[in-house]
Amino acid sequence: MSNLAQVKENIDTFVNYREFTKDEEKTAHNIAQIIQSQGAISCTACKYCLEVCPRGINIPAIFGLYNMYKGSSAKNASFMFVYNYNALEESTRADKCIKCGLCNKNCPQGLDIPKLLAEVEKTVKEVEKKMS
Ligand code: SF4
Ligand code: SF4
Repeated sequence: MSNLAQVKENIDTFVNYREFTKDEEKTAHNIAQIIQSQGAISCTACKYCLEVCPRGINIPAIFGLYNMYKGSSAKNASFMFVYNYNALEESTRADKCIKCGLCNKNCPQGLDIPKLLAEVEKTVKEVEKKMS
Protein backbone atom coordinates (compact mmCIF):
# COMPACT_ATOMS: atom_id res chain seq x y z
CA MET A 1 0.00 0.00 0.00
CA SER A 2 1.38 3.36 -0.93
CA ASN A 3 -1.29 5.87 0.16
CA LEU A 4 -4.08 6.37 2.70
CA ALA A 5 -6.86 5.50 0.24
CA GLN A 6 -5.26 2.11 -0.38
CA VAL A 7 -4.95 1.46 3.37
CA LYS A 8 -8.65 2.29 3.88
CA GLU A 9 -9.64 0.10 0.94
CA ASN A 10 -7.73 -2.84 2.38
CA ILE A 11 -9.17 -2.35 5.87
CA ASP A 12 -12.66 -2.38 4.34
CA THR A 13 -12.07 -5.90 3.04
CA PHE A 14 -12.14 -7.10 6.68
CA VAL A 15 -15.51 -5.53 7.56
CA ASN A 16 -17.33 -8.85 7.09
CA TYR A 17 -14.31 -10.97 7.95
CA ARG A 18 -14.65 -14.59 8.91
CA GLU A 19 -12.01 -17.28 8.89
CA PHE A 20 -11.92 -19.98 6.21
CA THR A 21 -13.15 -23.38 7.29
CA LYS A 22 -10.54 -26.14 6.96
CA ASP A 23 -12.22 -27.31 3.74
CA GLU A 24 -12.23 -23.80 2.26
CA GLU A 25 -8.60 -23.35 3.21
CA LYS A 26 -7.68 -26.62 1.52
CA THR A 27 -9.66 -25.68 -1.60
CA ALA A 28 -8.01 -22.25 -1.78
CA HIS A 29 -4.59 -23.84 -1.38
CA ASN A 30 -5.30 -26.36 -4.15
CA ILE A 31 -6.58 -23.65 -6.48
CA ALA A 32 -3.46 -21.54 -5.84
CA GLN A 33 -1.24 -24.52 -6.66
CA ILE A 34 -3.13 -25.24 -9.89
CA ILE A 35 -2.90 -21.60 -10.95
CA GLN A 36 0.83 -21.45 -10.21
CA SER A 37 1.51 -24.69 -12.07
CA GLN A 38 -0.15 -23.24 -15.17
CA GLY A 39 2.28 -20.34 -15.33
CA ALA A 40 -0.29 -17.74 -14.38
CA ILE A 41 0.77 -14.27 -13.26
CA SER A 42 -0.02 -13.67 -9.59
CA CYS A 43 -1.80 -10.37 -10.24
CA THR A 44 -4.69 -9.70 -7.85
CA ALA A 45 -6.17 -6.92 -10.03
CA CYS A 46 -5.75 -4.39 -7.22
CA LYS A 47 -5.07 -1.74 -9.91
CA TYR A 48 -2.42 0.10 -7.85
CA CYS A 49 -0.12 -0.01 -10.86
CA LEU A 50 -2.67 1.93 -12.91
CA GLU A 51 -2.29 4.89 -10.57
CA VAL A 52 1.27 5.52 -11.72
CA CYS A 53 1.53 4.27 -15.28
CA PRO A 54 2.23 7.28 -17.53
CA ARG A 55 1.00 5.36 -20.58
CA GLY A 56 -2.26 4.05 -19.18
CA ILE A 57 -1.34 0.44 -19.93
CA ASN A 58 -4.27 -1.76 -18.87
CA ILE A 59 -2.03 -4.04 -16.81
CA PRO A 60 -4.61 -5.99 -14.74
CA ALA A 61 -6.82 -6.62 -17.78
CA ILE A 62 -3.84 -7.83 -19.81
CA PHE A 63 -2.67 -10.15 -17.05
CA GLY A 64 -6.24 -11.35 -16.49
CA LEU A 65 -6.62 -12.34 -20.15
CA TYR A 66 -3.25 -14.09 -20.08
CA ASN A 67 -4.21 -16.02 -16.94
CA MET A 68 -7.53 -17.07 -18.44
CA TYR A 69 -5.73 -18.31 -21.52
CA LYS A 70 -3.15 -20.21 -19.47
CA GLY A 71 -5.81 -21.78 -17.28
CA SER A 72 -8.30 -22.70 -19.97
CA SER A 73 -8.69 -26.04 -21.67
CA ALA A 74 -11.49 -24.77 -23.91
CA LYS A 75 -11.10 -25.36 -27.64
CA ASN A 76 -11.52 -21.69 -28.40
CA ALA A 77 -9.09 -20.47 -25.69
CA SER A 78 -6.53 -19.22 -28.23
CA PHE A 79 -9.16 -17.40 -30.25
CA MET A 80 -10.72 -15.80 -27.17
CA PHE A 81 -7.31 -14.73 -25.84
CA VAL A 82 -6.30 -12.99 -29.06
CA TYR A 83 -9.80 -11.62 -29.70
CA ASN A 84 -10.15 -10.10 -26.22
CA TYR A 85 -6.58 -8.81 -26.21
CA ASN A 86 -7.11 -7.02 -29.51
CA ALA A 87 -10.39 -5.64 -28.19
CA LEU A 88 -8.42 -3.62 -25.62
CA GLU A 89 -7.86 0.03 -26.52
CA GLU A 90 -4.77 -0.05 -28.74
CA SER A 91 -2.91 2.57 -26.70
CA THR A 92 -3.33 0.47 -23.52
CA ARG A 93 -1.85 -2.79 -24.83
CA ALA A 94 1.38 -4.38 -23.64
CA ASP A 95 3.47 -3.26 -26.62
CA LYS A 96 2.91 0.40 -25.67
CA CYS A 97 4.79 -0.04 -22.36
CA ILE A 98 7.90 2.15 -22.29
CA LYS A 99 9.52 0.06 -19.52
CA CYS A 100 9.89 3.00 -17.14
CA GLY A 101 9.36 0.61 -14.18
CA LEU A 102 7.17 3.01 -12.17
CA CYS A 103 4.44 0.39 -11.84
CA ASN A 104 6.77 -2.11 -10.14
CA LYS A 105 7.08 0.15 -7.11
CA ASN A 106 3.29 0.07 -6.61
CA CYS A 107 2.75 -3.66 -7.06
CA PRO A 108 2.09 -5.42 -3.73
CA GLN A 109 2.80 -8.76 -5.45
CA GLY A 110 6.33 -7.66 -6.34
CA LEU A 111 5.75 -8.42 -10.01
CA ASP A 112 8.22 -7.29 -12.66
CA ILE A 113 5.41 -5.81 -14.69
CA PRO A 114 7.26 -4.60 -17.82
CA LYS A 115 8.96 -7.99 -18.14
CA LEU A 116 5.64 -9.81 -17.78
CA LEU A 117 3.94 -7.46 -20.25
CA ALA A 118 6.65 -8.33 -22.77
CA GLU A 119 5.96 -12.02 -22.10
CA VAL A 120 2.24 -11.53 -22.71
CA GLU A 121 2.93 -9.60 -25.91
CA LYS A 122 5.23 -12.38 -27.12
CA THR A 123 2.55 -14.97 -26.33
CA VAL A 124 -0.10 -13.00 -28.22
CA LYS A 125 2.14 -12.89 -31.30
CA GLU A 126 2.89 -16.63 -31.05
CA VAL A 127 -0.78 -17.54 -30.69
CA GLU A 128 -1.72 -15.25 -33.61
CA LYS A 129 0.94 -16.91 -35.76
CA LYS A 130 -0.31 -20.41 -34.90
CA MET A 131 -3.87 -19.41 -35.75
CA SER A 132 -3.01 -17.84 -39.13
S1 SF4 B 1 6.83 0.09 -17.08
FE1 SF4 B 1 5.22 0.12 -18.63
S2 SF4 B 1 3.39 -0.52 -17.57
FE2 SF4 B 1 4.88 0.08 -16.02
S3 SF4 B 1 4.44 2.23 -15.57
FE3 SF4 B 1 6.02 2.19 -17.16
S4 SF4 B 1 4.85 2.28 -19.07
FE4 SF4 B 1 3.41 1.71 -17.48
S1 SF4 C 1 -0.29 -3.63 -8.84
FE1 SF4 C 1 0.41 -5.72 -9.30
S2 SF4 C 1 -1.18 -7.03 -8.42
FE2 SF4 C 1 -2.04 -4.98 -8.54
S3 SF4 C 1 -3.12 -4.91 -10.53
FE3 SF4 C 1 -1.06 -4.15 -10.87
S4 SF4 C 1 0.12 -5.94 -11.51
FE4 SF4 C 1 -1.74 -6.68 -10.54
